[in-house]
Amino acid sequence: MIDAQTELYGIIGNPVRHSLSPIIHNGAFRRMGLNAVYLAFEVNDLEEAIGGVRELGLRGVSVTLPFKTQILPYLDQIEGVASKIRAVNTILNEGGRMIGHNTDWEGALQALETKVDLKGKRVILLGAGGAARAIGFGLKEKGCQVIIFNRSQNRAKILAKELGCFHHPLSSFEEMDGDILVNATSVGMYPLDAESPIPKEILEEGMVVMDIVYRPLQTRLLREAAERGCMTIDGLEMLAHQGAAQLEIWTGKKPNPLEIKNDLRRVLRSEVSLSGVSHD
Ligand code: NAP
Repeated sequence: MIDAQTELYGIIGNPVRHSLSPIIHNGAFRRMGLNAVYLAFEVNDLEEAIGGVRELGLRGVSVTLPFKTQILPYLDQIEGVASKIRAVNTILNEGGRMIGHNTDWEGALQALETKVDLKGKRVILLGAGGAARAIGFGLKEKGCQVIIFNRSQNRAKILAKELGCFHHPLSSFEEMDGDILVNATSVGMYPLDAESPIPKEILEEGMVVMDIVYRPLQTRLLREAAERGCMTIDGLEMLAHQGAAQLEIWTGKKPNPLEIKNDLRRVLRSEVSLSGVSHD
């Protein structure tokens, strides 16, 4: 029951009405028996919004596009890998002190680790945007050899320099040789769900292929990877693990990512039945 003790959490972003984060967190709060509620806030003025978080005493906030980097100057402390990535997707409010974390990289790595031991692996990373950046830093922390492929060479070059790795255009398919392939571009995302970022001939039996796109869940890339005998990981795996890591930062208790994934799967399935468009 919501009462005067209820702790408030939320997500700030713009747009934010499509966010699955309220599903992740409210479901987990219920199962964990916590008196807490999580809402979505569509924000125009970030400075005002952070003032509101402080003054109203929100205990924790998720940060999404376009604010993951813009938020940095408003924080009192930036923890761990988040300070290397220079992007924050989670804020813990410790009595008015805003502490920034990044759980995107943890979510992606934990998702990969459900299928493969990452140490020493060669990873083809498609993309050089915010998500690719978080995943790239995480992979380096784990001792992987990362190769970046991106449409815009400028962005790829900047990230490759920071990670100390090679980069190529997204169309350099002949250079795509690795144990693991991660799609961190938005190619394959609805309504461009007929597309895959790569031709299926690149995919070899035994490779691990993770697509972080989750609308649709079964992307063309993942379908073709399964046909080619690869192990596949869908975008809900990363989403659920990054949410579980946020909850642990805020509450000190780790929820079960499997239960979060089930909640998310149910919601995505109901979106499909309402729209008639296959997300699965
Ligand atoms: P972003 O910062 O806007 O980066 C987008 C990336 O996609 C860039 O590398 C961009 O290349 C590339 N791209 C976009 N359209 C393209 C096209 N038509 N052809 C080739 N490349 C294209 O976005 P982001 O935050 O990194 O998110 C990327 C995707 O990951 C989105 O689909 C998002 O929903 C998903 N995501 C999933 C999770 C999860 O938990 N599962 C978490 C975060 C994000 P350029 O640099 O050339 O523009």
